[in-house]
Amino acid sequence: MAYATTTPRHKTKEVGIGDHLIGGENPISVQSMTTTNTFDAQATLEQIQRLEEAGCEVVRVTVPKKEDVAGCEAIRDHMKIPLIADIHYDYRMALACLEARTPSGRRAVDKIRINPGNLGGEERFKEVVRKARDAGVPMRIGVNSGSLEKDLIDKYGFPCPEAMVESALRYIETAESLGYKLMIVSLKASHVPTAVECYTQYARQCDYPTHVGITEAGSKDYGTLKSSAGIGAIVLRGIGDTIRVSLLGDPVPEIAAGFDILRACDRRVTKPEVVACPTCGRLDIDLERIVAEVEERMKNLSNPIRVSILGCLVNGFGEAKEADLGIAAGAGKGIIFKRGIPIRHVKEAEMVDALLEEVHRFDEEVKPL
Ligand code: SF4
Repeated sequence: MAYATTTPRHKTKEVGIGDHLIGGENPISVQSMTTTNTFDAQATLEQIQRLEEAGCEVVRVTVPKKEDVAGCEAIRDHMKIPLIADIHYDYRMALACLEARTPSGRRAVDKIRINPGNLGGEERFKEVVRKARDAGVPMRIGVNSGSLEKDLIDKYGFPCPEAMVESALRYIETAESLGYKLMIVSLKASHVPTAVECYTQYARQCDYPTHVGITEAGSKDYGTLKSSAGIGAIVLRGIGDTIRVSLLGDPVPEIAAGFDILRACDRRVTKPEVVACPTCGRLDIDLERIVAEVEERMKNLSNPIRVSILGCLVNGFGEAKEADLGIAAGAGKGIIFKRGIPIRHVKEAEMVDALLEEVHRFDEEVKPL
């Protein structure tokens, strides 16, 4: 079942990135970014294909020089998901990406990501906006605390959320004045409370979709936790149309982490959730082994089923009742619950098979997302 959430989603405009729609009523997308040199088309494509296999829905590549534009042209025909060109400092790279074509004649870049504050002035930003408008290509306006306009720093004293939001709103207004509306906005910060406040203040004032992330989150373990805290807080406030978990190293783990954050926040549940008790002195059974086996045997299911596995009959009895399917597993026997109702008493040796039997039966009853 899909569980009810309490905070409604921030209503945003719908924007298409290639054929992938974000914003509006569309599910929150999970994206990533390659770590290769984009001009090395083969290495970049290999990494993108690994990201696609992991479930990545939109991917970004860096484009610091014209050889990287050629890299985009070389790889796009071989990709399934939309390609975003990430551009800093050199507005000519943005213009080149907006013109780039693959050998088959399609657009090489489905969206550009710029930071208007580091393109070298308002005129250059406007030139990029006009070109994106004429090409019908969306653009992420990524405001960054390190490149805020001087007058905003003078006004606020430091790059606080108010200054970041005001900066984003200015760029949006400039782009709108040129007739451009295909915008996605990000206000990333490495400091979690700052990022949460930036997105919260922005969502009160504007309805272009947002890309959410905690920038420079760090190495895999801490970066995942830090992103969970930040992205989790933001999406639980109903904000966010795409997310990226930024981790040091191989980007592939970013995808599972992104989907897990959305699942834990009940914002997008794309596979079953196995809930297990932490165990305590009342434990009567090898719970770790049971949970590992159940998770392994459920890993290919895509329905949002919640299965809870508790390690004793005493307390587990009440707790197992809260899931779609639950088992209170004690020494020698267990009780399986379906939506709170006990449906089977099973012997310890048959416990996992019996639970999986019920999971598959339940899986057939619920519609996939
Ligand atoms: Fe302990 Fe039982 Fe609770 Fe698990 S369900 S933590 S074993 S009391």
